Amino acid sequence: MSNHFDLIVIGAGPGGYVCAIRAAQLGMNVACVEKRETLGGTCLNVGCIPSKALLSASEKYESAVHHLSDMGVEIDGARVNLPQMMAFKNDVVSSNTKGIEFLFKKNKVKHLQGFGEITAPGQVQVEGKTYTAGAIVIATGSDVISLPGITIDEQRIVSSTGALVLPAVPRTMAVIGGGVIGLEMGTVWRRLGSDVIVIEYMDNILPGMDEELRKESLKIFKKQGLKFMLSSKVISAKAGVDGVALAVEPAAGGARENLQVDVVLMAVGRKPFTEGLGLKSVGVEVDERGRIKTDAHFQTNVKGIYAIGDVITGPMLAHKAEDEGVVLAEILAGQSGHINYDLIPGVVYTHPEIAAVGKTEEQLQKDGIVYNVGKFPFMANGRARAMGMTEGFVKILADAKTDRILGAHIIGPEAGTLISEIVLAMEFDGTAEDIARTCHAHPTLEEVVKEAALAVHKRPIHI
Ligand code: FAD
Ligand code: NAD
Repeated sequence: MSNHFDLIVIGAGPGGYVCAIRAAQLGMNVACVEKRETLGGTCLNVGCIPSKALLSASEKYESAVHHLSDMGVEIDGARVNLPQMMAFKNDVVSSNTKGIEFLFKKNKVKHLQGFGEITAPGQVQVEGKTYTAGAIVIATGSDVISLPGITIDEQRIVSSTGALVLPAVPRTMAVIGGGVIGLEMGTVWRRLGSDVIVIEYMDNILPGMDEELRKESLKIFKKQGLKFMLSSKVISAKAGVDGVALAVEPAAGGARENLQVDVVLMAVGRKPFTEGLGLKSVGVEVDERGRIKTDAHFQTNVKGIYAIGDVITGPMLAHKAEDEGVVLAEILAGQSGHINYDLIPGVVYTHPEIAAVGKTEEQLQKDGIVYNVGKFPFMANGRARAMGMTEGFVKILADAKTDRILGAHIIGPEAGTLISEIVLAMEFDGTAEDIARTCHAHPTLEEVVKEAALAVHKRPIHI
């Protein structure tokens, strides 16, 4: 086997493996280096996929215990079999990671297992062997962060990775951080029986999302039984045999409160992972937050070395990393590629789901843009009622002059699926009128999107 490739990708997460496959499709001879035993990165192994498997399983349990009897389905004695639930999750992960192995073989991408270090431009060392390439793509992703003085032991004080493999349902759990991971994993363990409290530094959960969505979701999560300590900061967390002792203070300062919980989930964000990659020795620049700096074509300051995904700027999302992987492969093959960073949807996979794209009302107001709001509740939709899922709404924000859709914010059943229609409309510079005039099948949840578009012009039918 030759040790030379057109392209070496370091990291086989959604950014790296997708870039490798697309480059191979375009005729390049590609290798992908991965330090984990399995392919798929954070997303498939310890992120998107296992968390959604547990969200799905725990949601079914919650329905069986609390909701199905409303529809006349009586399930006596439903109980959690945690080892089986974990086995289900592990099977889902392994079928996904094996799927990437298959795709690598199909596309003739060479999988180099081991830790990759860039030893010179065009040169990567893996397990003592040196490989050369015309181009190198860094797709090494991100890692969890903790708070100063608090050590994640993955037993009592866990990151999302530990929260995906807890051996028993904790009686009590404190989640530090009311962002996406905190709410998704907090929801899983609450549904399975934990008493969960979310401690958030800001005065509301899900910072950055539309205010109305944040308020509505907080209300719904509280109703479901999650507890919240907002505007609060954790001062210390000490793990002992009986659990974890937490000291919490108001963010603005004030009286300290002590909590004792079985398990703490640290979910205060993630940082780019570039340890041991050799960036300093080859001179690749990073910014003040450790993210690799790139130009608009993902090239770092060193010619021939590129970076994509969580390790560069932008939202830490799998689909953002994937799209960057495709675009970069196409650029490297001499084509042109483009990503519209204003149109990357974000979804929180709780129940109801929360999904957003484009500008929030707060951003539009700050930018001085005059807009119309169209809002429609799931409560007024026949299908949502038939499904017994009537919480939430769709909100569409459209430019007051041109009617172009500027943002959309959904909380409700299948929000993550419903948002795609609006993303697509926005990608084509669509207007609220375009969606309003598009025929939507009946009875579907999609009709809520259509009615919200009609509501932009104050003519919804069903309310
Ligand atoms: P990663 O997926 O992190 O992959 C990087 C890979 O590089 C890793 O496998 C790592 O082992 C490898 N690597 C690193 N350094 C080296 C080296 N020197 N040599 C060899 N290999 C190396 N995003 C969503 O869009 N939707 C979700 O539902 C979602 N859920 C999530 C849930 C959780 C609990 C977490 C933690 C994250 C979630 N994310 C989700 C975020 C998503 O996982 C990331 O945005 C995505 O994985 C980033 O892809 P990436 O390719 O940049 O990096
Ligand atoms: P996040 O940035 O979404 O949320 C972190 C939260 O912690 C914020 O609300 C922040 O205000 C809070 N916080 C920060 N410091 C704090 C402190 N000292 N005390 C209390 N609260 C504090 O980060 P995350 O939830 O850890 O997720 C990491 C990344 O993973 C995100 O970028 C996210 O996009 C990605 N992810 C995405 C999904 C999804 O798309 N469904 C799911 C999970 C993770």
